[in-house]
Amino acid sequence: MFSKILIANRGEIACRIIKTAKKMGISTVAVYSDADKDALHVHMADEAIYLGASPSRESYLVIDKVIAAAKLTGAQAIHPGYGFLSENADFCKACAQENITFIGPPVGAIEAMGSKSAAKSIMEKANVPLVPGYHGDDQSHDVIKAAADSMGYPVLLKATAGGGGKGMRQVWSEAEFSQGLEAAKREAKSSFGDDTMLVEKYLTQPRHVEIQVFCDNHNNAVYLFERDCSVQRRHQKVIEEAPAFKMPDELRAKMGEAAIKSAQAIGYQGAGTVEFLLDVDGSFYFMEMNTRLQVEHPVTELITGQDLVEWQLRVAANETLPKTQQQLSIHGHAFEARIYAEDADNDFLPATGKLALLQTPVESEHVRIDTGVRQGDEVSVYYDPMIAKLIVWDENREKALQRLTKALSEYRINGVTTNIDFLYNLASCQPFVQEDIDTGFIEKHNDLIF
Ligand code: ADP
Repeated sequence: MFSKILIANRGEIACRIIKTAKKMGISTVAVYSDADKDALHVHMADEAIYLGASPSRESYLVIDKVIAAAKLTGAQAIHPGYGFLSENADFCKACAQENITFIGPPVGAIEAMGSKSAAKSIMEKANVPLVPGYHGDDQSHDVIKAAADSMGYPVLLKATAGGGGKGMRQVWSEAEFSQGLEAAKREAKSSFGDDTMLVEKYLTQPRHVEIQVFCDNHNNAVYLFERDCSVQRRHQKVIEEAPAFKMPDELRAKMGEAAIKSAQAIGYQGAGTVEFLLDVDGSFYFMEMNTRLQVEHPVTELITGQDLVEWQLRVAANETLPKTQQQLSIHGHAFEARIYAEDADNDFLPATGKLALLQTPVESEHVRIDTGVRQGDEVSVYYDPMIAKLIVWDENREKALQRLTKALSEYRINGVTTNIDFLYNLASCQPFVQEDIDTGFIEKHNDLIF
């Protein structure tokens, strides 16, 4: 096992990783920017290295600076967290060049999943079911339109380089197609510098169900069941839960096996998530694979009793997976709500300011809070405005949901506008309680939530 690792991230995920490293007796090195000089992750780590100015392009995203920090401190491995450099193939290569272990998959797997269309081609060959669509190299208008026409409207245009819910556009009829494609390409070019598009059948009432997989360097692979992340706003997750509701054991096993097949198709190692769309008739389709630890990994930890960061460290250190598939099981139900500094009544505009009061629910075996801030800290304009992840567990969905609404109601935050009331209304509305949920949930129940 490593004796020292560097965490190339900030906020809650940096703190989360440091906790596990401490538990395992591994020393930790934090990195920070001007805005984070006094941040919680800096205080929690054994050492901290300054990277640069507050904008992430000048600090957390500068590969050379992160590598130099690892060399300076003698860190043997780097955990990239999520976001920032976590899915950056160049960073992964730079680590290898310096003989530093990248705590994540091999560079080939990152590259293979870096483009949505290349990923779909690989999965097609591996016989993993895909949403009907076109993801070819010929990007001429007529070819893409012919594909859309032949599968029928509505369709979804996606930037192959897209991510984070950006670069997608629905087209509802043939008449709208050409204009839609043009607009989508323009957006993709300006957001990702690449306007390659793919087109898919747009499913109108799907659920987003994703499978947590883990592979080691000794040919072992397991799935740690699923998370339902259907509650989304602008294709971004709001509340996640595990296990998924209305999930027959047989379907769970089928999706788990398809996820393992996806991971094995790209020689995967470490923690990965295979995202599927689950249609009303029980068919499921590969969407993409995220080659990192996900924001919502804690719900999986609570229902399986496993520490996924520990698993990542063990796999990166060439150990075998801590459990076999037969040794893994689901215990109870967990929810995660993402608490954000944002104004739900004003188009979810990010909010900034000082957390003058930050009173949280009491943590227990039922309530876990993953956060990177304390009372008195500033939520700045520079980074993702997430304040905390509130994660709750109980023996079934109904009880876990009661824990969630109770915990949300116990939060007191002054100084920064938050989405807590929005989350509370969402978690307590009847359709949510009754598991009547698909990805259109928030739009459909606007009147109940706002
Ligand atoms: P990103 O990489 O930006 O997160 P994804 O491909 O993972 O994009 O899709 C994000 C979300 O968009 C999904 O969770 C789902 O809600 C919606 N979505 C994606 N593809 C489709 C589709 N073909 N039909 C309907 N909804 C889709």
